[in-house]
Amino acid sequence: MGIRNVVIVGSGCAGHTAALYTARAKLEPLVLEGHEPGGQLSLTTLVENFPGFPEGIQGPELIANMRRQAERFGAEYQLAHVMSADLRTSPFTLTVGKETVQTRSLIIASGASARWLGLPSEHALIGHGVSSCATCDGFFFSGKDIAVIGGGDSAMEEAIFLTRFATKVSLVHRRNEFRASKIMLERAQQHEKIEFIPNTVVEEVLDPSKKEVTGLKLRNLQSGKASNLPVSAMFLGIGHVPNAKIFEGQLDMDQDGYLKTTNNVFTKIPGVYACGDVQDRRYRQAITAAGSGCMAALEVEKYLEDQGIE
Ligand code: NAP
Repeated sequence: MGIRNVVIVGSGCAGHTAALYTARAKLEPLVLEGHEPGGQLSLTTLVENFPGFPEGIQGPELIANMRRQAERFGAEYQLAHVMSADLRTSPFTLTVGKETVQTRSLIIASGASARWLGLPSEHALIGHGVSSCATCDGFFFSGKDIAVIGGGDSAMEEAIFLTRFATKVSLVHRRNEFRASKIMLERAQQHEKIEFIPNTVVEEVLDPSKKEVTGLKLRNLQSGKASNLPVSAMFLGIGHVPNAKIFEGQLDMDQDGYLKTTNNVFTKIPGVYACGDVQDRRYRQAITAAGSGCMAALEVEKYLEDQGIE
């Protein structure tokens, strides 16, 4: 298909914004959508903190709008997952299924995926009481009992945040030691609405047949005893996994696999930029992802211009 000016890997907020800007710059971007088209927003419900929507907007609708906007200016989308990338020489080569795509510049917007427990009942209830985003979905469980899973800072932060809505928050953790920082742990432990359930794992989320969360089937790992915890929602706080594995050995990463960038979006390879959650472990918001997608697109424009490609 010839050498592309710019290929964007990923189709969340960062990818769509990069597509919109590079399309309007007439660079005819190709977006390879990845295995979770639309990214994390497509897994949420009402988004109330994306400026411009005073009544809020559904996550899937917001992401569909972004795509339509980019397509209006000629961005091309391919439902494809990049298997490997060769960034050693320019043009860069991406392997997509049995095909290869060559490009003069690359924007990596492959995001991060929430880590899930991996239970079939959990999977069946995502968006129906199972969530990985307390700030997105906590509001819907006002006056209800909620469970948060995990023992790190994310879980503590989610549990504390959810006390705004919940009658009670049960924090279920598989050990009795916590990765969370002391201050966050203490804040959660001292909160009157938060109950700790340590040494315990979730075996099943009830009840997929009712299409809503009615409780959790738990097992205490020390006593072996099973129990039921009646809750209306389960929030996962067990970490995120950046989708950057295919760039291992070619781009710098931190100890958890997030791509390292300088000046917001520059990787160490000229012409290769990273934006959104794949390089941001701190803010992880739709609006910050969109902002960094814009930055990456502007840098691509400049880079190609410097190469004499208009
Ligand atoms: P994390 O520190 O890696 O903690 C993940 C937690 O989830 C651990 O308690 C872990 O249990 C548990 N877990 C992982 N896989 C599990 C599974 N399959 N089943 C049950 N439990 C599982 O991740 P994080 O809390 O997302 O934090 C990531 C980084 O962001 C950290 O550096 C953290 O300090 C930072 N962060 C900071 C703030 C803040 O300061 N406000 C807020 C959020 C995140 P084990 O301990 O048994 O492995």
